Amino acid sequence: MMESKKYILTEKDIPTAWYNVLPDMPTKPRPILNPQTKQPFKEEELYPLFAKEVVKQELNTTDRWIEIPEEVREMYKIWRPTPLVRARGLEKLLDTPAHIYFKNESVSPVGSHKLNSAIPQAYYCKKEGVTNITTETGAGQWGAALSLAAKHFGLELAVYMVKVSYHQKPYRRSIMQTYGAQVIASPSMSTRAGRKMITDNPNYQGSLGMAISEAVELAMATPNCKYTLGSVLNHVSLHQTVIGLEAEKQMEMAGEYPDVVIGCFGGGSNFCGITYPFIRHNFSGERNARFIAAEPASCPKLTRGVFQYDFGDEAGYTPMIPMRTLGHNFSPANIHAGGLRYHGAGSVPSQLIEDGLIEAVDIPQLETFKAATMFAQSEGIIPAPESSHAISAAIREALKAKEEGVQKAILFNLSGHGLIDMASYDRYFAGDLTNYEIPEEELLKNTRDLEKLI
Ligand SMILES: *Cc1c(COP(=O)(O)O)cnc(C)c1O
Repeated sequence: MMESKKYILTEKDIPTAWYNVLPDMPTKPRPILNPQTKQPFKEEELYPLFAKEVVKQELNTTDRWIEIPEEVREMYKIWRPTPLVRARGLEKLLDTPAHIYFKNESVSPVGSHKLNSAIPQAYYCKKEGVTNITTETGAGQWGAALSLAAKHFGLELAVYMVKVSYHQKPYRRSIMQTYGAQVIASPSMSTRAGRKMITDNPNYQGSLGMAISEAVELAMATPNCKYTLGSVLNHVSLHQTVIGLEAEKQMEMAGEYPDVVIGCFGGGSNFCGITYPFIRHNFSGERNARFIAAEPASCPKLTRGVFQYDFGDEAGYTPMIPMRTLGHNFSPANIHAGGLRYHGAGSVPSQLIEDGLIEAVDIPQLETFKAATMFAQSEGIIPAPESSHAISAAIREALKAKEEGVQKAILFNLSGHGLIDMASYDRYFAGDLTNYEIPEEELLKNTRDLEKLI
């Protein structure tokens, strides 16, 4: 642990522009559709829901670089640039010839990468005179990040938190409340979508899809209010590219280029954030790195989902997205990586995986906690259960390198720390956690009828 080496940048190295991958993609994803008309969304049709500037970013397929507003860069300076670390402790523990690097996004005030997008989203809302915003949160990371950003820009925030996490992770709720946000367990009685769900299924423990429906419904019913989303959409991944852009410079300082870049995968934002700046060199033919998205075996949309237009939420309020999906009615097991319990993937990573330009692996829950413990003991940082999926994939790659006797450079994103997830670790140590494998019939049940949606 003492030998691990850090690569540190200074404030002037914080990127001045985000990288938009869309202009460089060999096959562009199909457009997102209006759920009512089943036609591609026009910018104006999305203005009631999202801030105008993020709508423009969402649909921008031509500008490779999008300037980061000065007010946002100022906020980024609170914790950016984040360190890149050569994990010599972990390398030694694994006795691998591979060099393992991680980008440490856990150093943000809220403990995860989510603040990279929360700040610009709150900023653009403020700039156009919005007073209230709504959102959903799974494990509470996005909600915590947005609560801080909303407070900074003087916005009122209502957060729908997935019920299972509301109870499993009470401190995330306290964090959001400390920053001044209203937190509601979802499904709730405060929306039509929530009331219907509770009536049909009183014991339902919630899902991100359900919480999104509630947040969208409240935003549409409240004057001067916008909805914000913490993952899946293009503009969120765009904001997260600060991770990869900094990492690119830091890998240069280390004198290496990654052979493999790894991120855990919920809706895709941290994976996209670390990989896009590197994948652009694959597109231009200069490099040939591999990219691996690590998802839970209990929520395997990339490895076992179908590629179809689907809704981003359970009630069908959101745009229809061409995605790798388990179906918007898929109800994930109550695993401890709450941030990865989402049924679908963004349209860009879905297209990239369809085209064989990125790979995915699904990882059983117990393997992730074993990897997390090894990482904590060798590097000193207790990882978020979500990030532990990336660590597991990195360990698999490092052990493969050892078996094959080849030296390679592995880079993964440490999307967050797990200091507020210790209850999950307790359950792991007590032997209470299990692996969840989903039977094929269960998957088919939720995806069979998706074709009929359009
Ligand atoms: C939210 C979250 C994730 C998953 O979301 P992505 O959009 O796929 O990045 C992963 N890790 C942490 C720490 C998170 O908070």
